[in-house]
Amino acid sequence: MNPSYLYHAFGVRHQECTKTEYKGNQNIHYIQTRKDELCCPECKSRKIIRSGSIYRDIRSVPVGHRETILRMKVQRIECKSCGCIRQEKIHFVTGKRSYTNKFARYVVDLSRIGTIKDVALFLNISWDTVKDIQKRYLQRHYGNPDLSKLEYIGIDEFAVRKGHVYKTIVADLLTGQVVYVGDGKGADALEKFWKKARKAKAAIKAVATDLSAAFISSVRENAPDATLVFDHFHVVKLMNDTLDKLRRLAYNQEADLMKRKVLKGTRWLLLCNGADIYDSCHRNRLENALEMNAPLMKGYYLKESLREIWMQVTKEQAQQVLMNWVEQAQDSKVPLLQKFAMTLMAHRSGILSWYDHHISTGKLEGINNKIKTMKRQAYGYRDEKFFELKILSLHDKTYAFVG
Ligand SMILES: [Zn+2]
Repeated sequence: MNPSYLYHAFGVRHQECTKTEYKGNQNIHYIQTRKDELCCPECKSRKIIRSGSIYRDIRSVPVGHRETILRMKVQRIECKSCGCIRQEKIHFVTGKRSYTNKFARYVVDLSRIGTIKDVALFLNISWDTVKDIQKRYLQRHYGNPDLSKLEYIGIDEFAVRKGHVYKTIVADLLTGQVVYVGDGKGADALEKFWKKARKAKAAIKAVATDLSAAFISSVRENAPDATLVFDHFHVVKLMNDTLDKLRRLAYNQEADLMKRKVLKGTRWLLLCNGADIYDSCHRNRLENALEMNAPLMKGYYLKESLREIWMQVTKEQAQQVLMNWVEQAQDSKVPLLQKFAMTLMAHRSGILSWYDHHISTGKLEGINNKIKTMKRQAYGYRDEKFFELKILSLHDKTYAFVG
């Protein structure tokens, strides 16, 4: 076989083909290193003695819909210069792998148009081989994200398996790229991230998180110069939870069966944005429920006015709105609302700092949804590291693997 064909088709540069067999669906090329290319794998000396050889089968890219096997005669070499006795080095294979580097690249290319299962079936190799090739590729390209230019980050956690295993992710809010995936939740899960960020000399300006005490103390301790911004969707969600507790309380305290029924059916109406309820029948039902229970009514109107905090022109105005809100909640004499007012007060600087940096964890919600889809596609990713690498590569749509 033409040496230049051997090189261009299979990436084999220093070998010659001595024979080709066609068996079943396979083209088997017998190759061996050209005499003038043989040297000591340690010191590159040409003063060597060949002492035996073995054959090794190496998969390469298919030709004409047939599998290609390179049956390589691997020389055992005794070096007269450095005295070592070793097998020759094969340049087109990495380590002890049973396929060429070119084959691995081919698998990577196919992975962009088919799932791991598709690619494995198409090439007649195992699922694990395709996965390992993908994994190494992802590690090389996404395994160590550059943290040196990080300025705005968002931190969030999500459950990998319902309620059991947690992961904490850190995303670059400017690019939408996940830059870190930590095991577990809370401050411990972030430790490695801070270590890497310090090493990269990242100058983080602001961090968006929910109101979790663990995240807050972790940020304060490790990035004292960064501004904490509490994500406003999380604050609103917390208020919605409070309102729902009020509704359940009202329901449990109500003796009248008809009234109970009305309260039971208003959960969604209470929680959705009041301005979005156009249906007059829905409006009536909501008003009926609110009239039945004073604490619920107070809670509802406070919930509706909460978002005003983020609708002001200046931070000072927003602070005034927040303080008024807290005062009204305290005046309501409803313990659940008073408790929420305390939470708001305790976190007010992080809530108002939204006016300094308009950031939120909204991007992380989007990332979480993508991760959910990914898990459904591929049996929940039993290989944790592989799963992590897939998350780190999520932002790169042009190179995304199918499954
Ligand atoms: Zn040597």
